[in-house]
Amino acid sequence: MQFNIAMLGPPGAGKGTQASQLAGPRNVPKISTGDILREAARLETEFGREVQAIMDSGGLVSDEVMIGIVRERLMREDAREGFVLDGFPRTVAQAEALDAILVDRAPLMVLDIAVPSDELVRRLASRRVCGQCGEIFGDGSGSECVKCGGALQQRNDDRESIVRERLKVYARNSEPLTSYYRGRLTFAEIDGSRTPDVVERLVNETIDRFQGSVELGRSRPM
Ligand code: AMP
Repeated sequence: MQFNIAMLGPPGAGKGTQASQLAGPRNVPKISTGDILREAARLETEFGREVQAIMDSGGLVSDEVMIGIVRERLMREDAREGFVLDGFPRTVAQAEALDAILVDRAPLMVLDIAVPSDELVRRLASRRVCGQCGEIFGDGSGSECVKCGGALQQRNDDRESIVRERLKVYARNSEPLTSYYRGRLTFAEIDGSRTPDVVERLVNETIDRFQGSVELGRSRPM
């Protein structure tokens, strides 16, 4: 059966880390819309510059653009057996479009990773990302990636003033988004305030439960 997952949760909840651990062993792509947009911004086209300005403000790229990017990405061959979406959907309009895109596929499993906002601000302030391989480090120490030796960097939008705006934007959209999914059998909220190992265990247990559910085919509310 296809392995179709969307990870929801505020910036800093650990979605990216958990998405990687889910996707890697199952040989399905982790599709991070933030990574796709950062890559576009690096190209410094007009579109890239617009995207960079939006990310630097802590706001969201338009639903229309995001839906187009994800629709195209999910049509690629490597996503045929499934995918782990990280950072999409972020709005109800994106969630509705995703349902339409997935209409002929196995039910979407949705995990919402919840973490209190004080803890998120603390985590994001110390988060570093490898400029070369993209590995994420939570502890803010060291300047070199232990995986590939690349230089560790702070994301521009992880600075505190932008983080607060990103959290506000998230809070505005998150309740309608979780309400959109809450009635489904393949939706679960996960306590993301625990250590990454514990969260990983909770995530894997939840997915096993979803997959074992004989009701999987009836995941949408009647
Ligand atoms: P992330 O790496 O997921 O925190 O995303 C970084 C930034 O990219 C966000 O603050 C948004 O500006 C933008 N972005 C990523 N995913 C989306 C999305 N699904 N919808 C709109 N904007 C997005």
